[in-house]
Amino acid sequence: MTIHTPSPDTQALEAQMATLDLGGRLALVASLGGRAVFTTSLGIEDQVITAAIGRDGLDIDVATLETGRLFPETVALIGETEDRYGIAIRRFFPEQADVDAFAATFGINGFYESVEARHACCGVRKVKPLARALAGAQFWVTGLRRGQSGNRASTPFVEFDAERNLIKINPLADWDIDAVNAYVAAHDVPINPLHKRGYPSIGCEPCTRAIKPGEPERAGRWWWENDLTRECGLHVPEAASALPHTA
Ligand code: SF4
Repeated sequence: MTIHTPSPDTQALEAQMATLDLGGRLALVASLGGRAVFTTSLGIEDQVITAAIGRDGLDIDVATLETGRLFPETVALIGETEDRYGIAIRRFFPEQADVDAFAATFGINGFYESVEARHACCGVRKVKPLARALAGAQFWVTGLRRGQSGNRASTPFVEFDAERNLIKINPLADWDIDAVNAYVAAHDVPINPLHKRGYPSIGCEPCTRAIKPGEPERAGRWWWENDLTRECGLHVPEAASALPHTA
């Protein structure tokens, strides 16, 4: 993962974050004055962050990308989470004209055929809706962890996202999966039932499979591609997300 050179402000924030627990990190973001948006995929890490935001009533907007290809379990969890924490999760959908154009060019499931087609589908169903979700935001909170994959191994707490011109906050960057599971158990956080069926990382249904024991956490995401291309474009610069398929 490419990390942009931090500005002095992000460096100071990075140092401060390192001294705080999750609630403190999120409260710090909420206190900074700009609009903060947390984008959730309803995965287990994101549920931990949503629980902390809801529990403390923090002024952080919660949004999700309703790609149209999610598992039914994931869609059901959106409403369940809203009810549990008394929050509204804003849904951002792809534009139908974009979906139609993708289908006309590549076929509705053309993402299996090439990295180009897969990135085009993620662009229509995720990246463009994300831009709408983050419009006007100064801070973007994510559930990225260093332990999720090699691409995320150097995830900082704070980084300047030059493409989107905002500061990205990754308050779980230093958490391991055991810490995530412990938080879920201690706070009775609702999670996607698919996690217990071998899906540690859950995205769109056609692009996610269960993993085998010993496989990396994100091995079930776009499993037909190699590690260099296996991100959806949300958390990598555009140039990196367009890497050619070399497997
Ligand atoms: S994860 Fe798969 S279905 Fe979802 S947007 Fe990307 S290519 Fe399309």
